[in-house]
Amino acid sequence: MSSVIAPTPDGVDQYFWDGVARKQFLLQKCSACGALRQPPAPMCSECNALEWETQEATGRAKVYSWLVSHHPTEPDADPRIIVVLDLEEGVRFVANLVECNLADIRFGLPVELTWVEYPSMNREAPQILPQFRPTGDAA
Ligand SMILES: [Zn+2]
Repeated sequence: MSSVIAPTPDGVDQYFWDGVARKQFLLQKCSACGALRQPPAPMCSECNALEWETQEATGRAKVYSWLVSHHPTEPDADPRIIVVLDLEEGVRFVANLVECNLADIRFGLPVELTWVEYPSMNREAPQILPQFRPTGDAA
């Protein structure tokens, strides 16, 4: 299995990584107008409010776009499939697609959240990451 570099939260996304550690997939939501801020931001782009809370996402999404990333120095390593997803909540999210053959990827492919634990390159503890896999449902 590939190893990953554990994230370094920068303040704005600390809530997200705290959620990941509890296997909660959290989105930032404006406390004033309810707009989702994805990617996370200190100010709401809809109403300029600074206050926010979190909303747990369902983990259901559809593939909007993707690319296949080959490791630059380990050509035999499995390529990673990086997807831009349309989350059911109406915002986009970038993640890895797992448990999917390259030939089966298509626009609109229904996917669901799955938690995957990877060896960490920079920490002793493994790093859990939110990943997505095909649901097996027709679009
Ligand atoms: Zn707002």
